[in-house]
Amino acid sequence: MNNAEAASIRHDWQREEALALFDMPFNDLLFRAQSVHRRYFDPNEVQLSTLLSIKTGACPEDCKYCPQSGHYNTGLEKEKLLEVDKVIEEARAARDSGASRFCMGAAWRSPRDRDMPQVLRMIREVKSLGLETCMTLGMLTENQAAQLSKAGLDYYNHNLDTSPEYYGEIITTRTFQDRLDTLANVRSAGMKVCAGGIIGMGEGEKDRAGLLVQLANLSPQPESVPINMLVKIQGTPLENEKDVDPFDFIRTIAVARIMMPASHVRLSAGREEMNDQMQALAFLAGANSIFYCEKLLTTPNPQANNDMTLFQRLGIRPEQRAVTEDSEDQEAALLRKVGEAQTDGQFYNAAG
Ligand code: SF4
Repeated sequence: MNNAEAASIRHDWQREEALALFDMPFNDLLFRAQSVHRRYFDPNEVQLSTLLSIKTGACPEDCKYCPQSGHYNTGLEKEKLLEVDKVIEEARAARDSGASRFCMGAAWRSPRDRDMPQVLRMIREVKSLGLETCMTLGMLTENQAAQLSKAGLDYYNHNLDTSPEYYGEIITTRTFQDRLDTLANVRSAGMKVCAGGIIGMGEGEKDRAGLLVQLANLSPQPESVPINMLVKIQGTPLENEKDVDPFDFIRTIAVARIMMPASHVRLSAGREEMNDQMQALAFLAGANSIFYCEKLLTTPNPQANNDMTLFQRLGIRPEQRAVTEDSEDQEAALLRKVGEAQTDGQFYNAAG
């Protein structure tokens, strides 16, 4: 990013401005988002990350969308914190199938002191495989953030979820300010920030605008902005929420792209329910990152080969990290995957 591009990133967005973007005719909005996208990114590259749940279920928080909350009975099998060796094995497999970033998620309110040594080892080991590291472990104190950063953690994910006004409808066990405090601790420890939200929880357009204003006005803006579409899980209070209009979801991606031009906007949870056409529109609107694995924490994710088939049909390349010996291996693995997708028609799901 050159100086002019950096200088044109704004942190003074008003909700009315964001709403005006949402209200643009769809074609105009997509054209504007794609034009912004091309100034900051190669429009035919998408970053691939892989996500592993390192500790599943029994979370004390009450996020109404989450199957991992101990407040709801979703039939999810709980698991203890994974052994480091298991995490290394999964990270190696992710790297060999083309991921450049490995994200590790634990269903905690915040990490306990006694878990920290194991978590820090995971970071060091995964990093030594040549992968970028990301974790999501709940709220962090300044001291915890500093420890993670020192171990080499590149990114920390902590979503704002929705607007400050709608937040209380979704979570009561921690406040919106708690979330902002964690993000501030992550930033001051020198890590990159991954923060986004969820669409389809009954919020209105003004809440979607409010969420994006909060994210865009963080200074610096988050490097990664996951935009999730609610996955309705039986047993959670949001199991019967109305479906999101796919065009409203694409609009949210486009507005995020315009307001946060240099951030990776990630098409995240809910991708399983999006057909190829919707995903292609999301890329056109400026999404340039996906999770690439069979499971997204606890919900199914489209099979990796379907992703590669879609990339090939759209002429999209996986984004590469700076060239190292490892990334040369990574490139070879990716090219192999794309080749397999080209020749193996059975992985293409015409309904997908
Ligand atoms: S804190 Fe995370 S794991 Fe826990 S209930 Fe909320 S979203 Fe789920």
